[in-house]
Amino acid sequence: MSDEKLSLILPDGSKLEVERGESARAAAEKISRGLARAAVAAKLDDEIVDIERPLERSGTIRFLKGEDSDADALYVLRHSAAHVMATAVRSLWPNAGIGFGPPIADGFYYDFDVERPFTPEDLEKIDEQMREVVAQDYAFERREVTREEARELFCDDPYKLERLEEIPEDETISVYRDGPFFDLCRGPHLPSTAPVKHFKLLNAAGAYWRGDERRPMLQRIYGTAFYKKSSLDEYLHRLEEAKRRDHRIIGKQLDLFSIQEDMGPGLVNWHPKGARIQFVLRRFLEDELLKRGYELVYTPHIASEALYRKSGHLQAYSEVMFPSMEMEGEKENYRVKPMNCPMHMEIYASTQRSYRELPQRYAEIASVYRNEKSGTLHGLLRVRGLTMDDAHIFCTPDQVEDEIYDMLDLVDYVYGTLGLAYRVDFATRPQKRIGADETWDIAEDALRKALDRRDVTYAIDEGGGAFYGPKIDVKFLDAIGREWQGATIQLDFVLPERFDLSYMGSDNQRHRPVMIHRAIFGTFERFVGGLIEHFVGAFPVWLAPVQVRVVPVAEDYNEAARAVQGALAAAGLRAELDERAETVAYRIRDGELMKIPYLVVVGQREAEAATVAVRKRGAEKKQVVMPLEEFVEQVREEDESRALA
Ligand SMILES: [Zn+2]
Ligand SMILES: [Zn+2]
Repeated sequence: MSDEKLSLILPDGSKLEVERGESARAAAEKISRGLARAAVAAKLDDEIVDIERPLERSGTIRFLKGEDSDADALYVLRHSAAHVMATAVRSLWPNAGIGFGPPIADGFYYDFDVERPFTPEDLEKIDEQMREVVAQDYAFERREVTREEARELFCDDPYKLERLEEIPEDETISVYRDGPFFDLCRGPHLPSTAPVKHFKLLNAAGAYWRGDERRPMLQRIYGTAFYKKSSLDEYLHRLEEAKRRDHRIIGKQLDLFSIQEDMGPGLVNWHPKGARIQFVLRRFLEDELLKRGYELVYTPHIASEALYRKSGHLQAYSEVMFPSMEMEGEKENYRVKPMNCPMHMEIYASTQRSYRELPQRYAEIASVYRNEKSGTLHGLLRVRGLTMDDAHIFCTPDQVEDEIYDMLDLVDYVYGTLGLAYRVDFATRPQKRIGADETWDIAEDALRKALDRRDVTYAIDEGGGAFYGPKIDVKFLDAIGREWQGATIQLDFVLPERFDLSYMGSDNQRHRPVMIHRAIFGTFERFVGGLIEHFVGAFPVWLAPVQVRVVPVAEDYNEAARAVQGALAAAGLRAELDERAETVAYRIRDGELMKIPYLVVVGQREAEAATVAVRKRGAEKKQVVMPLEEFVEQVREEDESRALA
């Protein structure tokens, strides 16, 4: 069958015939010399293959060029970079055991079994050695071996031997060599080491073999690589920016919150200053909700399992729920709530509703608890105790479009006030779903119409909806362009059924209402975390925990400074007094580090003339003297208008 022709379909739909066994590069050659030269690998259907690999089957093919905009091409580069790193480590530590070395989202890592953890100096040495491996331009040579040969090759490496035993009997075992290093690997790789020029080793950390704490601790080195130097530089700059904005570090510096492991991981203590931010956001949102026809409700934090059985959470969601609490003398166990929907369903169901009462909109800012795996917890972004700005809307099918429209308007108002750009995803019916197609048609149509009426650009996530209804996801963008999960609007066809909800229609018949779950911030934890990083802790006046700090120049002026603070407080502003026995320069510097929008200094001149010397955040050393009354009015106006700068 060696003369059999293979038929390849190119991205533009045209066909290319090649001989079976010809390399992917030879196939590229048939299109153009330039393409053959530029190609670093090929993608045959879903499989990325080495550019020198003989082609053995027909399929759709795409040639990958060394471009940083192509995720597949980056995958090949980073996988190859991991080998280059292992090559370097093995030449410096010849006895190092070799664990896994995969590409990951933003780079790659490799695990090594070495006697002691890698130091920063070690990483420098490895980096240098890697540049040598790249300069040598070793070819990545693929060889198929028998199980016996592989056992022989890796006889000194227990990790490779363990993985070898897991390769199914019928699978081809391949080994890749680059210069002195060879590895048990499926590929794919670059043709040679030369293109791995623009890499950076980022850090080293201990990691258990296969993530199992009963197995040996290996040393993992993380790195990243790009085809172009400019892409690498840009990425490293973004990393620096992200580090500078890390909400966990800023949260500590500004004393906003803490998470204490011995109190329980993923549980947040909001310190007074962090609590103020949350309070301001809550008040802002709740005032707005009342204006927009929502009702506030409050529901308990625990409930009988009977409720969660009725809602179906106990059956479908129990993994994420905290364990059952046994109650003496009660038939049912209790659970702490993972979400508020079942309670809101019960409020709706507590009386017979008429179509005239719809929509019913119940909003509740409530803490719920979810037993997220400890390994996935991350600062404020992934927690076990989360505070949602939750709401459930019960309406007739005819009202869905307007309700969605209003929710999108609320999202726009809230995010716009915060100066956050956002983008919208619309997720439609998945393969596996409940509910009649007709119901989905009506629902999706209503969502689409609302989106179109709002004139927002949105992406359609075809088939990405939940099995119980379509949804709209909003991602907000921070100051450096990163996306954060924000608002969600989710239709639900299941819960109204399970709770047998109804309303009396104008036809005097019982009808099933439509239910919409929605959150605008999402959770306060994640949202405030995002805001901290967006503003780098320098909150606009209306959100700042402390809007003004008053600094008397000496003890003699404490009295006058206290009066200034009193005037600000009387105007509803958050002002604090710094009477510490430190120099003025020290206290000003401290106020700047705390990113307080206004620092006002009170000395003899100010005390006598009822003025204040004002330093605005970011205005360097510029100090403006103005009448106290005028200053209070200025800050009050800035607070009330929710000005951003
Ligand atoms: Zn490999
Ligand atoms: Zn809900």
